[in-house]
Amino acid sequence: ETHSADRTEAHYLEARGVTKRFGDFTAVDDVSLAIPGGQLTALLGPSGCGKTTLLRTLAGLEAPDQGAVVIDGQVQNGIPVTRRKVGFVFQHYALFRHMTVFENVAFGLRVKPKAERPPKSEIARRVHELLELVQLDNQSGKYPDQMSGGQRQRVALARALIVQPKILLLDEPFGALDANVRKELRRWLRRLHDELHITSILVTHDQDEALEVADRIVVMNQGRIEQDGSPEQVYLHPANAFVYRFLGAVNVFHGRIEGDRLVTYAPEESLQQPASGVPIFVRPHEMSLSREPKSGHLQATVTRVGFSGATARIEVQLDQTGREVEIMLPLSDYQQRRPAEGERVFVAPTGFTEFSDYQI
Ligand code: ATP
Repeated sequence: ETHSADRTEAHYLEARGVTKRFGDFTAVDDVSLAIPGGQLTALLGPSGCGKTTLLRTLAGLEAPDQGAVVIDGQVQNGIPVTRRKVGFVFQHYALFRHMTVFENVAFGLRVKPKAERPPKSEIARRVHELLELVQLDNQSGKYPDQMSGGQRQRVALARALIVQPKILLLDEPFGALDANVRKELRRWLRRLHDELHITSILVTHDQDEALEVADRIVVMNQGRIEQDGSPEQVYLHPANAFVYRFLGAVNVFHGRIEGDRLVTYAPEESLQQPASGVPIFVRPHEMSLSREPKSGHLQATVTRVGFSGATARIEVQLDQTGREVEIMLPLSDYQQRRPAEGERVFVAPTGFTEFSDYQI
C-alpha cells in the first residue's frame, strides 16, 4: 500500500553557524549541523540546552542573530515560516476544539488561497488517506475533547502532514502523555516514518525515545552540539563524558588500563588519591555480581533490589568507600543469584569506557 500524496522527496536542512540570543543569554551558540533528507533526527539534551530554540530557528519561527538556515541548498533568512513548507507538532496539541477530526486535518488545505486549494473531493480523499495512515479513519466525526491524548497527537500529526511539508518538526510531541502511551506512540512514529521517509526533527529530552526512534541523534548541551551520530555511535562511542552520562546511568571508578583491558580498579583510591588512576565509566549492565569472592572483585553490601520484569536493578554499597554502585542484571542472572537486601556480595566491572578529560 502506498500513500502517494504523502510520500515526499527527501529534503535536507542545514544550520550554518547559527547563533540565537535572548538579551545577554546565548541559547544557541554557533551551531552548524546538516540534517540529511529522509531521516528522522533527534535533538536530544537536558532542559534548557537550546533544542527548542534551535528547532524554532530552523523552522523560521525565530530569526538567527548570526548564521543561516538552509533548506535544499537555499538560504532561508528572510523567508517567512509560512513559505518554508515545514509542518509542526508540539507537546500541547493545538487542535481546534470546535472542529471535528476531519475538519482539523482538512484545515491546512481549506485555508489555502483559492488558486492553490484542491477541490473538495480531493481534500476529502487526502484527509481520509492521512487518517487511515494515523489509524483514526473511523474517528473522523469526533471532536478533540472526545479523544484520548494519544489520539489527539495522531490527529495533530495528520494535520501537519496534509500540506505535504518538506520537513516535519516535532517538539516533544509525546511529552504530555503517560509513559505507556508515549512508548506506544514512539514505536508508531517510527513505523510511520519508515513509510513516509519525510525529513523529520524530533526534539526530546528522553534518551530512550531518541535511541529507539531516531536514525540520528544530535546531543546538545548549553547551546552547543556535543555529538552527532547514529544511536549506536552516541551510545557505544560517546564523544565525551557529558554524552555518556546523558545517555544512561553510570558508575564511575578509578583504574588503570593496559591495552584495552581494565587491569585494576580501585574506587577506594579515588577519594584519597584521585590522581592514581583514570576515571572509568561503567554502565549498570556492565557490572557482574557474585555471591562468592572472586579475584578482582570488590566487596559490597546489597542496599536495594528493584525488580522490573526483564531486568533487575541492584544497588550495592562498596565496603571500602561507602560509594553506591548500580547493577543491572538480566532476569535469568537475577533468578539464579537472587541478591537480597543486606547480603554481602562481590562486584566487578565487565566493560568500561574511559574519559581522560573527566573531572570528578
Ligand atoms: P526544554 O526542554 O526545557 O524546553 P530546551 O532545550 O528546549 O529546554 P530552550 O527552550 O531552547 O531549551 O531554551 C534554551 C534557553 O533559552 C533557556 O534557558 C530558556 O530560558 C531561554 N529562552 C528560550 N526562549 C526564550 C525567550 N523567548 N526569551 C528569553 N529566554 C528564552
